[in-house]
This record gives sequence, structure tokens and C-alpha cells, in this order.
Amino acid sequence: MGNNTIFYTQISSIIIYVGTVFFIYRLYVRSKDATIETLREEKEFLKTKIDELEKNTPGNILKRFSERINILENEINRLSEDKEKNKKLIEEKKGQIKKLKEKQEAMKELYIGLVCPICEAPLTQKSTEEYWGREGIEGVYEIEEYECGTVIVDGDILEKCDE
Ligand SMILES: [Zn+2]
Repeated sequence: MGNNTIFYTQISSIIIYVGTVFFIYRLYVRSKDATIETLREEKEFLKTKIDELEKNTPGNILKRFSERINILENEINRLSEDKEKNKKLIEEKKGQIKKLKEKQEAMKELYIGLVCPICEAPLTQKSTEEYWGREGIEGVYEIEEYECGTVIVDGDILEKCDE
């Protein structure tokens, strides 16, 4: 092998080496970008899910009912400025309010034990605690804690929220 051949062999192996390193590096960067992209998408997805869930907590559903009822009541007030002319509309809105209130009540019944009975904040924790007597466990308390601070023990309100 002449000097030139050795030289070119070395050059080409260096080029191959550098090329390979560069190629691997590119792959690495791309996979890193891909991972970040995937994570970002996952995060977005989870955030949407959480938003959806938050929108539909019992407290928020009941709040939406109250808001719609309020809007209708305001409309009725506005329409009442010309009672004669708006008679039919007013009756319609009153009917809507009645239906909403019925639904709201039905929801409240579904949510008994899931939302604070005072302010409708959601239940955050439900636990039981045993109480002991001489013979051992004599019974169990059921403790419900709500986001607003209300604490109910065996159906009795022990601590009330501010609202
Ligand atoms: Zn409360």
C-alpha cells in the first residue's frame, strides 16, 4: 500500500466516522423532538380531559342550572316592562324555569353525599373511623369532607363552610 492509499483510507474512515456520528446525532435529536412533541400532545390531551371533568363536577353542573335560571329570570324581568305585549314569552320562560328547577332538584338528589349540602362544593374525601370500647370495636363513624371545608360525621354537620 502506497502512502496515498493509506492517506485516503484514513480520510475516508474519518469521513465515515464523522458521518456516522452526525447521523446518530441527528437521529437522537429527532427522537428527542419527537418525544417532546408526543409529551406535549399528551399533556394537551390530559389538560382537555381535566377541563372536561372539571366542567362536569356536580357543583359546576348545579351552578350552570342556577346560572340559566338566573338568566331566564332576568329576561322575565325585562319582558315584564311590557307585560301585555310579552305575555306569551313570559309564560314560556316561566315554563322553562320550572323545568330547569325540576331537573336541578333531581340532580341534587343524585348528588346527595357527593356535594356539600350548603354550597354544593364537591366531596373530596370519604372515610370511616372506628371507635373502640372495652370489647373492641363498637362502631364506625362515616366521615365526609368537602372541598369548601364542610365536614359531616354520620350525617351530622360537624363543620360548616363559609357560604
Ligand atoms: Zn360547602
